[in-house]
Amino acid sequence: MSKISAFILAAIHLALIQLGVRWGDEVICQSFTFSASANPIMYLGAIPVFVDSERDTWNMCPVLLEEAIRDRIAVTGKRPRAIIPVHLYGMPAKMDEILEVAGRYEIPVLEDAAEALGSRYKGRFCGTFGEFACLSFNGNKIITTSGGGALVCCDAVDAGVTKFLATQARDDAPHYEHSHVGYNYRLSNICAGIGRGQMLVLDQHIAARREINTKYRVLLAGSPGISFLENPSSDFESNMWLTCILVDPDRAGFTREDLRLRMEAQNIETRPLWKPMHLQPIFEEYPFYGNDTSESLFNIGLCLPSHPGLCDDTLARVVDVVKMK
Ligand SMILES: *Cc1c(COP(=O)(O)O)cnc(C)c1O
Repeated sequence: MSKISAFILAAIHLALIQLGVRWGDEVICQSFTFSASANPIMYLGAIPVFVDSERDTWNMCPVLLEEAIRDRIAVTGKRPRAIIPVHLYGMPAKMDEILEVAGRYEIPVLEDAAEALGSRYKGRFCGTFGEFACLSFNGNKIITTSGGGALVCCDAVDAGVTKFLATQARDDAPHYEHSHVGYNYRLSNICAGIGRGQMLVLDQHIAARREINTKYRVLLAGSPGISFLENPSSDFESNMWLTCILVDPDRAGFTREDLRLRMEAQNIETRPLWKPMHLQPIFEEYPFYGNDTSESLFNIGLCLPSHPGLCDDTLARVVDVVKMK
């Protein structure tokens, strides 16, 4: 069951409120993500604790997650209030391991599935594992309502509370009666109407993203120093929201940045991977548990043009620039 909101960070904000996160509490968040995963922690005056990724999925490392939980309990005497893993670029996080650790310490999980609508882990859709999960319908995502997102809840009670908070917390009365702080987080009916239309093309969009990924992998097979984010096993079925490559400069003969500039010179826009949160000026003072996994992915990774409208000729032009020396 889900409730639609104006932005995904509104959805994360409302989920954290319902998980009981208060001023001074700690919330564990994947470091390798977009800032919208972590900003709602700050809205509540809570403290983000960042955890690094593992190399298979680029998502939250379950071993580092446990290390972080144990250390936070030792330092503060309290358990973190929530855990936010992210399914980055559509790749499912290792949910069995993450849920096992979370369950052992009785900490609820809020999935950031903004990029992973339609992805599956062990046959089950991303966004259906946590106590709450959020999806994004921003313009650049798998489907769009121009802007907006959804909070996926486990039952009608949570969905009702979400709707209440998202519409200025109006109590049940003929006049305007308020006993809670509310938010104007609802999606407009016009955007929701666009979303209903987009649901009809969701499967096509996912198929197109996956096809683009396959074409890149076929055309760049054997290019020295170029590797891809790939499903680590048949347990993982990414929607391939974006096709991401890693550039090993020693083998490729050029760096990620050389390649990005070469693309730019050909009027092709590419982007480095998300810069990890623990390296961001706004978050650098907060605890971080990890090594250099996400930092090194950031240094050598590049997102290639992946829009479903990308035609074969344009894709071939992108591939040519990668192969150019
Ligand atoms: C896009 C994105 C968000 C934010 O979604 P909006 O709908 O733009 O607020 C949050 N987390 C991740 C990982 C994202 O990629």
